[in-house]
Amino acid sequence: MKVIVVGSSHGGYEAVRGILQEAPETEIQWYEKGDFISFLSCGMQLYLEGVVKNVNDVRYATPDSARAKGVDVFVRQEITAVAPLQHEVTVHDLTKDTTRTEHYDQLVLAVGAEPAKLAVPGAALANVYAMRGRDWAIRLKAKTVDPDVANVVVIGAGYIGVEAAEVFAKAGKHVTLIDILPRALQLYLDEEFTTRLTATLVAHGITPAMGQSVEEFTGKDGQVSGVLTDQAEFPADLVILSAGIKPATHWLKGAVDLDAKGLIKVNDYQQTSATDVYAVGDATLAPYAPVGGKQRIALATVARRQGRTAAKNILGQPMKMPAVSGASALSVFDYHFASTGVKAGTADQLGIAIKSIYVEDTARPPFVPEAAGNAPVYFKLTYAADSQRILGAQIMSKVDVTGNINAISLAIQGKMTLSDLAYADFFFQPGFDRPWHIINVAAQAALLRKT
Ligand code: FAD
Repeated sequence: MKVIVVGSSHGGYEAVRGILQEAPETEIQWYEKGDFISFLSCGMQLYLEGVVKNVNDVRYATPDSARAKGVDVFVRQEITAVAPLQHEVTVHDLTKDTTRTEHYDQLVLAVGAEPAKLAVPGAALANVYAMRGRDWAIRLKAKTVDPDVANVVVIGAGYIGVEAAEVFAKAGKHVTLIDILPRALQLYLDEEFTTRLTATLVAHGITPAMGQSVEEFTGKDGQVSGVLTDQAEFPADLVILSAGIKPATHWLKGAVDLDAKGLIKVNDYQQTSATDVYAVGDATLAPYAPVGGKQRIALATVARRQGRTAAKNILGQPMKMPAVSGASALSVFDYHFASTGVKAGTADQLGIAIKSIYVEDTARPPFVPEAAGNAPVYFKLTYAADSQRILGAQIMSKVDVTGNINAISLAIQGKMTLSDLAYADFFFQPGFDRPWHIINVAAQAALLRKT
């Protein structure tokens, strides 16, 4: 069997790995249009802040490590067309500028997404950057130490934009963080959390400019010099666009079914509309555990699970993609937060009636001093207004309690209710925790509540 995998980030990597684990004899051709396989944008902040020194270390696999396992690795080779009936792809060798066709028995499209561009005047000016992939990582790193860059404007205050803002604030630049939504991280956290985080951003010299719509990039000598919104103008020597992503699928029209946003339609087995063609990762939707249906969840965790699902099905072991809740975590200066499932900011668009309970506690018993790692913990549990089924949660503290959110993802997946969590068994030891875990505390408080 010959399998062609297109794209070498999380989704493509996992498809290759999953096949190799169980059928190492499979003939695999692995294509990447960039000059580097398996770069992980998730590690970008660590590289930009100097924690990881070498940009080339931010990856899972090298061409040599993959070739040692018998995989044919092709870099700077772009797949430009798929002919599903013939089971063929067109390969454009970007180095030699030649094209050829390759036959496949099974094809995995792990083509991912690209940063969305803003269709405003000045968008083509120099020094308008994005934060995704190795090339941008290298260019951004240079800007962190560029003395000509004093003012950085980050557009989009999701977790990528907040990472970018933190990197450049730590590098001593003045950073403005713009978003059209009223709160930074609005799609990840509710107001109880973002109020504290916004104060932290401000305390570290970042200027939030929320609820503003970008109208123009102004420039001087072909370089960006400012960002004009509907409310203000901000000076900018560098603009970083992190206002969403666009699936890299325009070339697939007619080969596989795409939705109105260009996402590749897949069934529960990651199969596309074309026989023997699978798709995984940011170019697809994922089954959503809290309320069913499918959602766009652009996370490495999802791409990896989809890659494994595709691999299993290719090997003739039917497996459905497990439903996911979109759990994610981030540190913002001295706070660490994580969230999963439904929040106030997403319930409306899902069209569901939710209730939430917000509690504050300490990470450890009150007698444990802060110097020994104790700190306030903020936690919010979200559940269905009618059935009390658990739908999501958010947690934040200056100590790292983010891992607790994984228990909520499991509770969502297992369709648990407030009653299931109220007295659920969690360990206690004063060096780590409280006798009643904050999940117990929140669920009990919700059950006691009259409204
Ligand atoms: P992509 O990562 O988009 O990769 C697609 C690859 O396919 C690219 O290398 C591209 O060059 C190649 N390609 C595309 N078209 C072709 C073609 N026609 N021919 C050949 N090659 C092609 N997720 C988390 O879970 N946790 C995190 O902490 C996290 N942090 C992140 C931080 C940043 C700054 C960013 C940008 C993302 C982060 N993510 C995180 C999201 C995660 O990186 C993405 O969800 C994941 O990379 C998606 O993987 P993918 O395989 O779908 O595609």
